[in-house]
Amino acid sequence: MSATQVNMDLISSILSGGMKVVDLTETLRPEYPTITLPSEFKQASPFVKEQISRYDEDGPGWYWNNFTLSEHTGTHFDAPVHWVTGKDVPNGSVDTMPVERFVAPVVVIDCTAEVRADLGYILTKEKLLAWEAEHGRIEPGSWVFMRTDWRHVTDPKNYTNLQEDGAHSPGPDTEAVLWMIEERDVLGFGTECVGTDAGQAFLFEPQFPCHHYMHGAGKYGLQCMTNLDLLPARGAVIIAAPLKIEDGSGSPLRVIALAPVE
Ligand code: MN
Repeated sequence: MSATQVNMDLISSILSGGMKVVDLTETLRPEYPTITLPSEFKQASPFVKEQISRYDEDGPGWYWNNFTLSEHTGTHFDAPVHWVTGKDVPNGSVDTMPVERFVAPVVVIDCTAEVRADLGYILTKEKLLAWEAEHGRIEPGSWVFMRTDWRHVTDPKNYTNLQEDGAHSPGPDTEAVLWMIEERDVLGFGTECVGTDAGQAFLFEPQFPCHHYMHGAGKYGLQCMTNLDLLPARGAVIIAAPLKIEDGSGSPLRVIALAPVE
């Protein structure tokens, strides 16, 4: 089949409903939580919108806004240079990353049962191997998304599940991260929580292993996603293209999935 025919078939699948387009993006709004670091560090800005005009004396025929936010506010992409381990990765900032990587297959690891039992659930290599036993091997260059249905299980007023000893939100352990990189050569790791690492990962060795190893290996991160429950375990394609910020460490973005309707 010619590449042109592949494109035509894709478009007709979308139009006929055989392929659904799923939005994995949270709405940028002031209330959506931004990750909070210990108070000795500088903090990322939440989303703030300021109206320029709305069909009024500031602009009678038009409506527009200014907004401020950090590179890591809302549904966003982590580039390799985000972490010190990835600072020398070639083409490791959002403006220099290869555009071919913006379109990639995804596997979705359903961790909803585990997270309902333990909001601080840690994803292990054993869980990933069990997924493969059911669904097949994770192909090189795939996104691995950890589905938790987080928005349904956590307290909306305490989205990161912050306790006295820090946040308790799910994420992978060091062994799982290294296995995804070294044994499966994944494109990156994605989650519905505010970070790709577990809330307690500051206690892991090394600290924040998903950021540490993934970005050091030139891999990517996606976080603050939603609607992962609408994706199949495998077979969907992700389109995740960060904004072209000069030397940017990450970017808010629209993440969409092309998901076959079986
Ligand atoms: Mn980030």
